[in-house]
Amino acid sequence: MDYRFALIGYPIGHSLSPWIHQQFLAKTNLTGLYTLEEMEPNQFERNFATVKSKNYSGFNVTLPFKQTIIPFLDGLDSHAKAIGAVNTVKNDQGNLIGYNTDGIGYLRSLESAYPNLIENKDKRVLILGAGGAARAIYYALSHGGFQTIDIANRSLDNAQKLVLIKASETTTRILSLLEAEQELSTYDLIIQTTSIGMKPNVNEMPMPLTNVKHTAIISDIIYQPIWTKFLKAGAIKGVNLHFGHTMLLYQAQYAFEIWTGNKPLMNDMETKLKQLLEG
Ligand code: NDP
Repeated sequence: MDYRFALIGYPIGHSLSPWIHQQFLAKTNLTGLYTLEEMEPNQFERNFATVKSKNYSGFNVTLPFKQTIIPFLDGLDSHAKAIGAVNTVKNDQGNLIGYNTDGIGYLRSLESAYPNLIENKDKRVLILGAGGAARAIYYALSHGGFQTIDIANRSLDNAQKLVLIKASETTTRILSLLEAEQELSTYDLIIQTTSIGMKPNVNEMPMPLTNVKHTAIISDIIYQPIWTKFLKAGAIKGVNLHFGHTMLLYQAQYAFEIWTGNKPLMNDMETKLKQLLEG
C-alpha cells in the first residue's frame, strides 16, 4: 500500500514534518508520500473540502487550524476531545478521526531522555505557559499520574482553564511568572512552553534560573533554536536538560503509529534532526 500523508496549516513552507515522516516510512519499509497542504485561514471550509476529496491516509494539522478543524471531523479520540485541539487525523475507511499526539509525544520524549523520572510520579512539576502545547502536556502528565503540576502564565485566566482538564489525583496551583521564579527551587521538572525565546527573539527567556535546584530538569519545547536562552541558562547552572526537537520527533512517531500501526525506531533520528535544524 502506498500511504499518502499531508500537513494542513498556514504558513507551513518550512515544516520539518515531510522530512520526519519520509524517514519513518523508510525505517518501517513502507512506501508513501508526505505533502504540504498550505491553506489561507479565511477559506478553510472550501480548502478542507478539496483536501478531503484527495482521500489522504492521514494528515497532521497545525496552526491556526487545530481547533477550527474539529467540526469537520467524524470523531475525536478521548485525548483530543479533552484537550480541545487536533494535530493528527486518521482516515479510517472514509471516517476522519481526530487525535492529539503532542502530550503523549512529550511524555515519550521525556521518558527517552530520563527513564527514571516517569517512574517517580511524586516529582514536582512546573509548567511555564498555558497555550495549546501546555494544555496537551498538562493533560498527558496529569492523566499519566503526576501528582503535583503547577502552572505559571502571564494571563492567569488562561492558566485557570487548564485545571479543568486535570485528573482528580493531581494538585495544581496557578502562579504568576514572578511567583514561579521565586519558588523555582521547589520543582524537579520545569517545562517551558511559552513562545518566549523562539526565533527570531532568541535573546529572550521567561525568567532567570537563579533559584533552580541543581538536580532539576529544565525542559524547553521550543525547537527553533534547539539551544534556547533558557536551556543555555540551565546548562550554565549545571542542571539536566530536555530539548524541544525530541518532542517534535515523538509526537510525529505517535502520529505515524496511529496512521500505519508501525512504531519507527528513533535511534539516529534525534541526531539527524538536530543536524538539520542547526544547518
Ligand atoms: P500558544 O500561542 O497557544 O501559547 C503561547 C503561550 O506563550 C501562552 O501561554 C502565552 O501566554 C505565552 N506567551 C507568549 N508570549 C508571551 C510573552 N511575551 N510573555 C509571557 N508569556 C507569553 O502557542 P503554543 O502552545 O501552540 O506553542 C508555544 C511554543 O511551543 C511555540 O514556540 C511552539 O513552536 C512550541 N511548540 C513545540 C512543539 C514541539 O513539538 N516541540 C509542539 C507545539 C508547540 P498568555 O496565555 O498570557 O497569552
